[in-house]
Amino acid sequence: MTEAELQKLVEAIAVKYFNQPFRHQVKINYRMTTTGGRYRLKDHQIEINAHFLIPQYRHELIGIIKHELTHYFLHLSGRGYRHRDQDFKQLLNQVGGSRFAPDIGLSKKQQRKYLYSCQKCGQEYRRVRQINVRRYSCGKCGGKLKLVKKLVH
Ligand SMILES: [Zn+2]
Ligand SMILES: [Zn+2]
Repeated sequence: MTEAELQKLVEAIAVKYFNQPFRHQVKINYRMTTTGGRYRLKDHQIEINAHFLIPQYRHELIGIIKHELTHYFLHLSGRGYRHRDQDFKQLLNQVGGSRFAPDIGLSKKQQRKYLYSCQKCGQEYRRVRQINVRRYSCGKCGGKLKLVKKLVH
């Protein structure tokens, strides 16, 4: 699905479920891992996690879009747009949006992107973030760590 197609889909859902037009932009976010989407308060853009843009996740995608549109319309109309607000809970329920990012197994697969190995004993370590190999050493033997590769999901 292209960004233009996603834009059309969001606009259609806005009219169908909220009876209001969506007048801002939708962006595809390729770096999102565990969240399905995001509504940006500063420019009213909606970002959607690229992983949900395949036919298999159509149902989840619509739930995410409804969730972000709930933030969007409440924020623009000056009502309670945060998760804990009653307005938010009510409207989300009404349109049938998803409460949480649907679990499609992204969190486990994606988080540990960096693979390190000990130069002395060969022990491997996977880390979410890059680490400073001059400051951290192998937990087993104290040897020096080396970045083997950065895994791209
Ligand atoms: Zn939210
Ligand atoms: Zn070691």
